Amino acid sequence: MISPEQIRQDFPILFQEVNDEPLVYLDNAATTQKPKQVLATMTHYYSANNANVHRGVHTLAERATHDYEAAREKVRRFLNAQETAEIIFTRGTTTSLNWVAQSYGDAFVKAGDEIVISYMEHHSNIIPWQQLAKRTGATLKYIELTEEGFLDLEHATSIISEKTKIVSVAHASNVLGVINPIQELATIVHEKGGILVVDGAQSAPHIKIDVQSLDCDFFAFSGHKMCATTGTGVLYGKRKWLEQMEPVEFGGEMIDFVGLQDSTWKELPWKFEAGTPNIAGVIALGAAIDYLESIGLAGIHQYEEELVGYVLPKLQAIEGLTIYGPKDPTQRTGVISFNLENLHPHDVATALDMEGVAVRAGHHCAQPLLKYLGVAATARASFYVYNTKADADRLVQAILATKEFFQHGTI
Ligand code: PMP
Repeated sequence: MISPEQIRQDFPILFQEVNDEPLVYLDNAATTQKPKQVLATMTHYYSANNANVHRGVHTLAERATHDYEAAREKVRRFLNAQETAEIIFTRGTTTSLNWVAQSYGDAFVKAGDEIVISYMEHHSNIIPWQQLAKRTGATLKYIELTEEGFLDLEHATSIISEKTKIVSVAHASNVLGVINPIQELATIVHEKGGILVVDGAQSAPHIKIDVQSLDCDFFAFSGHKMCATTGTGVLYGKRKWLEQMEPVEFGGEMIDFVGLQDSTWKELPWKFEAGTPNIAGVIALGAAIDYLESIGLAGIHQYEEELVGYVLPKLQAIEGLTIYGPKDPTQRTGVISFNLENLHPHDVATALDMEGVAVRAGHHCAQPLLKYLGVAATARASFYVYNTKADADRLVQAILATKEFFQHGTI
């Protein structure tokens, strides 16, 4: 059983007042807070082991290299990838997706081919494909959504054909809170000879990932959304593809031999990691994985479902509040986007902040989705494992107070 009260103790940032109210942090889809264990790992690395990796023979360099590569093994285990050669460290989901679009895209996509994404994608899973389509003369197509915001698999099946080289979708939406049926989609895509890329930015922090059973060809996620620091991310790719792909960046660390006119690359995964990497960040990502696994990903998922099951009906009961995405709490992650009738979401978020409740407002880097939903912006509360039912109550109270204030001018 998860004890959020106990877990909270690991997150020093949560114990502060904002606008004279105890902070309730509900912006976890944007970035999560960092536990003491991760902060201590960073401090320890810089206090005891800091050195550049791979090149040195001295003791600190060996320690830094050991810890950096140990983090790669932790990520492999976390994703259940077959081998560490399939785990590439990047700056985040955005970099990971860009690299697939550039490297796999340039190698395998040509004029007349098709790339398929969906209407619920984050900009970082849209623009790299638009750019690839423009570079190659391929066509970009969009999978439609059902009324409740699920991927319309029938529509997906109807547009995925032998021409489809790449399908790229979010595992979990950062706006609608839905979890997409990746395995089913992988079967549809593979039957037609294409590959499936998964944007795991909103799933890896919350649900157990098994890239082998998902059968995706690439999987991308960011460290900062799962208790690690900003500037770290992962690109998982099946070896058979990575081997055929060219690096996107060139320079130190990634080379085997450098001549005057030509050079050769190191083996996987290092051929993709040019330059000095974010060593401390990667080691901290390993610590974040240890931390999340010590709680248990299955337990985290279950607890978040419970929390959403607790708060969703209370939110649904508020008159004038529209919630986007599925009505059934068991079919959602802890991301809840909403609008209050006649109020701009920025005003709602500002009013909630006055109550100490941190939520986000805007287009959430998903402009095509918001257009599809027919709204310019939404407010978004997003929960993580350290949020409690008391936090959920504070959100509900703050929304009611905001409504009251804008209707009658009193809080
Ligand atoms: N995809 C989704 C679904 C996201 O929520 C985000 C972050 N908001 C990203 C991609 C991009 O992640 P990052 O900014 O860490 O690269």
